[in-house]
Amino acid sequence: MEHPETKAPPLVYLETYGCQMNIADSELITGILRRAGYGSAARPEDADVILLNTCAIREHAEERALGRLSDLARLKHRRPNLRLGLLGCVAQHNRARLVEKAPGLDLVAGPDSYRRLPEFLGQAGFDPIVDVRLDRGETYAGLGADHGVGPRAYVTVMRGCDRFCAFCVVPYVRGRERSVPPDAVVRECRELAASGVREVILLGQTVNAYRFAEVDFGRLLRMIAAIDGIERIRFTSPHPSDMSAGVIEAMAAEAKVQPHVHLPVQSGSDRMLVAMERGYTVAQYLELVQRLRRAIPGLALSTDIIVGFYGEDEDDFEATVALMREVGFDSAFTFKYSVREHTRAYRLGDSVSEAEKAQRLSAVIALQESISLARNQAEISKVRDVLVEGPARRGGGMLSGKTPQFKTAVFPGTPGLGAGDTAAVRIVSASSHSLTAIPA
Ligand code: SAM
Ligand code: SF4
Repeated sequence: MEHPETKAPPLVYLETYGCQMNIADSELITGILRRAGYGSAARPEDADVILLNTCAIREHAEERALGRLSDLARLKHRRPNLRLGLLGCVAQHNRARLVEKAPGLDLVAGPDSYRRLPEFLGQAGFDPIVDVRLDRGETYAGLGADHGVGPRAYVTVMRGCDRFCAFCVVPYVRGRERSVPPDAVVRECRELAASGVREVILLGQTVNAYRFAEVDFGRLLRMIAAIDGIERIRFTSPHPSDMSAGVIEAMAAEAKVQPHVHLPVQSGSDRMLVAMERGYTVAQYLELVQRLRRAIPGLALSTDIIVGFYGEDEDDFEATVALMREVGFDSAFTFKYSVREHTRAYRLGDSVSEAEKAQRLSAVIALQESISLARNQAEISKVRDVLVEGPARRGGGMLSGKTPQFKTAVFPGTPGLGAGDTAAVRIVSASSHSLTAIPA
């Protein structure tokens, strides 16, 4: 495509919704399109191509993306040459139906179709292109992503999911589990280190199920820990059932692996965990928490919780509340259950009213706020290493970064200290969302 007036490279405006995997995919897409001769536009009004990379995990997320799409489609009235594409999980979830739902759409491409984006965008034509084939072999290994600026970068190490939890659309929209070859992961981490990145966050829907030939997730952690320049390693999200002794040993043995685990539990009721097909019991989850805490001193834990899944009664909900109190998570993402087409629980529908779900959600949010505050207050007077990300939003010469426990710490800057440096700080006060510190 050529820009008609300036002959400058065609410009792409890309908007991203959803989880870290989608952010990482957008970096991949930007890399693919840049190498194909596209530039980036900061505003949709300036673009020749508008792409939305979407999330289908809950109905609300999907509706948001479709609403935005119809807003953006209006730009086409003034600029008929503008091309509009919907990418990612909503594209995969709705497939060809989208073309009827969203007039003005030129391209619908699922998460395994990004390699062919330049080809699709280059095809002039009147009929929309729909490519939503899932490809069990596609890992995009070796296709460089355009990582954002800053000392931290996402590295996708596996794609898809084989777990089929009853509520979840991910295996249907992202396809079956596959791991990126370890040499490609290591090469990407080395290049990131050379470009100034100090911390990598390894991504996968069940990241600790990573396996490529003989290399499992524990081995992969050790390989990345051996890279000079990478100072911190994190990963998200591990599945409780894939947290093998080998993974815990690697986390404990490698100082670069940071003491924070995001370990989604979803519910504190065994009855719900069975219905959700999560593959573990509350007792097994608690035992895993104990093993992790024993192996990794100063460990922070966060989680995902769903309230109002089909069949959840007051007792089930109280069991979730009790589990949250017992574990004392440092933070939690909490969601109202949203029925998703294609999933195993879809045909069951909803049994908990919207009002009840909203009430349960407010209760777990309020509880988590108080637990997070207590966990953060327990940090007061401790000295923690902070990887500096840059000036804090509150200004006044303050810097901001993350502690090893992935808590945001804000502290007064000192001359010469900037993004990518590590500073030892002493925590002096805490809220439920952040820590305030002074140089140690
Ligand atoms: N793979 C990760 C795991 O198993 O923990 C998480 C994947 S998902 C992108 C992130 C979170 O969204 C899940 O942990 C779950 O709490 C939530 N989620 C998934 N499906 C949902 C649904 N249908 N309704 C509400 N929340 C949902
Ligand atoms: Fe969804 Fe379960 Fe897979 Fe996580 S493990 S992505 S919740 S199916």
